[in-house]
Amino acid sequence: MSFSAIINSFKGVDSFNTFSLPYKKLIIGFTIFNFLFERYVSFRQYKLLQKKDKKLPKVLEGKIDTKKFEESDAYGLAKSKFEMFSSTLGVVLSIATLLIQPFVWNYSVFYGDKILSFILRREYHMNLIASNIAFFILFTLISTLTSFPLSYYQHFVLEEKFGFNKMTKKLFFTDLIKTNLLVFVLASPIIYLLGWILKKCTDNFIFYIWLFVLFLQVTMFLLNDLVIQPMFNKFTPLDNQELKDKIDALAKECGFPLSKIFMVDGSKRSSHSNAYFTGLPFMKKKIVIFDTLIKDSSVDEVVAVLGHEIGHWKMNHITKMLIFSQIHFAVFFKLFESVYKNESLFSNLGFIIDRSSLKTTATLPGSNIAVINDYPFLIGLILFSQLIQPTDTLMSFCLNLFSRHNEYEADKYAADLGKGEKLKTALISLQVANLSTISVDSLFSMYHYSHPTLPERLEAIDKHIIASEKKEN
Ligand SMILES: [Zn+2]
Repeated sequence: MSFSAIINSFKGVDSFNTFSLPYKKLIIGFTIFNFLFERYVSFRQYKLLQKKDKKLPKVLEGKIDTKKFEESDAYGLAKSKFEMFSSTLGVVLSIATLLIQPFVWNYSVFYGDKILSFILRREYHMNLIASNIAFFILFTLISTLTSFPLSYYQHFVLEEKFGFNKMTKKLFFTDLIKTNLLVFVLASPIIYLLGWILKKCTDNFIFYIWLFVLFLQVTMFLLNDLVIQPMFNKFTPLDNQELKDKIDALAKECGFPLSKIFMVDGSKRSSHSNAYFTGLPFMKKKIVIFDTLIKDSSVDEVVAVLGHEIGHWKMNHITKMLIFSQIHFAVFFKLFESVYKNESLFSNLGFIIDRSSLKTTATLPGSNIAVINDYPFLIGLILFSQLIQPTDTLMSFCLNLFSRHNEYEADKYAADLGKGEKLKTALISLQVANLSTISVDSLFSMYHYSHPTLPERLEAIDKHIIASEKKEN
């Protein structure tokens, strides 16, 4: 198929707007199918972890003791059981929320109108965009309330049992409140702009949406770096001079545009450890190291981990991911454009479009049918995301495959810097410190893991070192 034929077939999708299908049944069907597939994948992992006579992989023999091996698999088993419970609850909740969306819409618009009328001291009816924002706020509050008991259990029972939880209850609740406030503050203007683009830019919709998404990505990146992260964690300039000098030397050797090195108090919440760099393309980069990583590893090991991180930069992995996500967004919104005015999609889920109505809902709270005078685009977006769930499943396989490939490349890069051996011991101590599961089922890892497993990485590094030595001789 030629390029123009692809474009033309895309233009044809406009006819989806009149497409009538049993949407409610389809969405519920996809949700259940996804759930069953994920349960099958998790069950394979569960079975593997339950086996009594598991053996430590050869590459790890003598490097991890049996006690740690058993402990990390016990942690994996506990996580697996928790996931079985939480995902079952999750699927029930997600179907329930799908079915009560008109109900939530009616409530949010009715009370949104009332609150604004009270503030403005005159009768006020929200327009479509404001109604969508009100719906979003109420919907988010409901999902926070239903999901927080699970998150509480995860931190204070599961993670606590294995000694990872460092969070106090006070911190947990302030995090929860901060996160929700942040979501409202950030999402409201985003919903506003999306509604505005949908209304004004009907001709070149995809171009404007793409511009909008790009703008969002850059803004969110800057906000995250400068405002959001510091709201939750403390970043202090690295004070370990030896480590600092070695990182500086490494950056110079690789041509990495390093600006500053920070240590972050990851230990405030958990003893899981990590390191990463941030910075816009073509700009100076900041390196962030978790205090837990510095505590658990030697200076040379931390440097080797950063060699791996610089490898990601050198191989343009972030730029590649960015291009990939741009294409993903463009396709997503192109298809969305073709369904968000599909009347039968909305009516199937209890939203009746009646242009003669003056308000954004003509229905009183308590009713599970919402009569609206225009398309509720946010609900369209939610329904559309649920309709394309099967492609998401496929997408996570592809993304993980790509990401794993990048991890191997970054490991090789660090090995070429002569840091292969240190990287190996660093990865082993990270594995021990994080109690990452050692026994992993192949399908489970393909679906869930963005990184190869530890034995896979160690073997690949060994192979690469041997191959490079042969080349040199
Ligand atoms: Zn990596």
